[in-house]
Amino acid sequence: MGKALIIGAGGVANVVAHKCCQVPEVFEEICIASRTLKKCEDIRDKLTGSRTKVRVAQVDADQTEEVIQLIKEFQPELVINVALPYQDLTIMEACLATGVHYVDTANYEPPNVPKFEYKWQWAYREKFAQAGLTALLGSGFDPGVTGVFCAYAQKHYFDEIHTIDIVDANGGDHGYPFATNFNPEINIREITAKGRYYKEGEWIETDPLSVKKVYDLEEIGPKNIYLLYHEELESLAQNIKGIKQIRFWMTFSDNYLNHLKVLENVGMTSIEPIEFEGQQIIPLHFLKAVLPDPASLGPRTKGKTNIGCIIQGVKDGQPRTYYVYNICDHQECYAEVGSQAISYTTGVPAMIGAKLIMEGKWQKPGVYNVEEFDPDPFMADLNKYGLPWREDFAPTLLDEE
Ligand code: NDP
Repeated sequence: MGKALIIGAGGVANVVAHKCCQVPEVFEEICIASRTLKKCEDIRDKLTGSRTKVRVAQVDADQTEEVIQLIKEFQPELVINVALPYQDLTIMEACLATGVHYVDTANYEPPNVPKFEYKWQWAYREKFAQAGLTALLGSGFDPGVTGVFCAYAQKHYFDEIHTIDIVDANGGDHGYPFATNFNPEINIREITAKGRYYKEGEWIETDPLSVKKVYDLEEIGPKNIYLLYHEELESLAQNIKGIKQIRFWMTFSDNYLNHLKVLENVGMTSIEPIEFEGQQIIPLHFLKAVLPDPASLGPRTKGKTNIGCIIQGVKDGQPRTYYVYNICDHQECYAEVGSQAISYTTGVPAMIGAKLIMEGKWQKPGVYNVEEFDPDPFMADLNKYGLPWREDFAPTLLDEE
């Protein structure tokens, strides 16, 4: 059917590349391009024997011109951006300049301001619409599958959705005293920020990690979950009509939080540059350099993830409750594609979003979040490509725990 350019060569890109190669009738050729060519080559070398042709390229995606040149040479139908959120806008610009569709998994964040918001990417709506191109934002798991879950609930089970609680649990253990499951910089910036949730038309701010509950998760057991702000809250609060409250919760072990507290207290999570032995360094960048590479956690991580949406609302005048979730096993992911479940649960939906655009099922000129498309083909592909979902019509509600 066509060609896709994958930008980035980290844990998520590894999964995207493997998954594209499982669908050669759609992805006839892929190019894995990133800042460090060797990482692209390492992924390519694991894909020998695939019917999908695989090539690699070096690109600095902070430079729009470099991305434009690469797109002109490779001529893909779309770009799957699984580099870092800092590259979203330069890559979107390059897609506009060359007339190709765009998919990503994380919203833009300026490198020097720890604040992620969709406003910078939504500002491209008209430009993509006029160019007849689709930009699909946030096609990972959360954001991504969580938005599709909400759209599916809205389409099939509710006349009105009133509350959504997104619960992201990782019961995996990698055996290190402290490591992050995806890019440490992005992860730590997200967790150390203030919490925020949407209620009755307003955003309510909470101190970082100050709101905690215990929730019993299938195949994981009871876990501490903490209220965080997460980017899909912004788009879902707009796109789910009649929504009254939406919150996001994530599990963290006491051990993880103790390490984080110490690192914060000594200044290691700061993004303010400091002078060190004659050069300027950013403490968080230095911390990233000394922590284990998330891509190296795969072989060591045991246990499961369980991520889903607990939804309350009304159907035919009656109150209704619905929980839709996926359980994913770290070791099974590693055996299949050589990455742990965090990268797997992000990379599979990125491939599916790209596939649906390539097939024309999710083509809509403009810039859209996942919940703005028909959820049915996406939900079917989740079952087909490794992230089967389960439903529960009588779940325990968070405020009952
Ligand atoms: P990694 O840090 O493992 O990989 C990022 C890759 O991007 C690296 O190969 C890196 O290159 C490359 N890169 C960084 N800057 C540039 C640049 N300027 N030009 C070209 N390549 C660049 O991250 P992950 O694979 O874990 O995550 C990828 C993305 O997925 C992130 O945006 C993350 O926020 C998002 N994510 C989304 C989730 C979701 O559920 N929606 C969950 C988890 C992650 P180099 O190797 O040279 O540093």
